Amino acid sequence: MEKVEIKDGRVVMKTTFSFDFDNTITRDPTAFLWMMNYLRDRGHEVLVCTARYSGYEFDDMNFVKEQKFPIYYTSGMGKRKFMKDQGILVDVWIDDMPDAIGYDPDYERSGYGVNG
Ligand SMILES: [Mg+2]
Repeated sequence: MEKVEIKDGRVVMKTTFSFDFDNTITRDPTAFLWMMNYLRDRGHEVLVCTARYSGYEFDDMNFVKEQKFPIYYTSGMGKRKFMKDQGILVDVWIDDMPDAIGYDPDYERSGYGVNG
């Protein structure tokens, strides 16, 4: 799969974005849904990764579910390892608690500027 393309005269790297729910999307649901849909419409992968526990129905997340974004529940596990175990390498995390993502020095990176 081609990971880089030119759109609007600029380099665009096909990217997997993970959005946190609590205190991230919930801070401005309309704005975040717009952003998430915009990124997905441009060909990126967009998902929601929350530390909430799986196996529960969270009605407050319905507005995300209705937009058909995949939602991953880590049940408190570090998000990076959890997603890696699902076979999904997230490129960019949008999260109010970066510590919830966790660090993995062997994590496979894609894109430019792999030092940061
Ligand atoms: Mg949060």
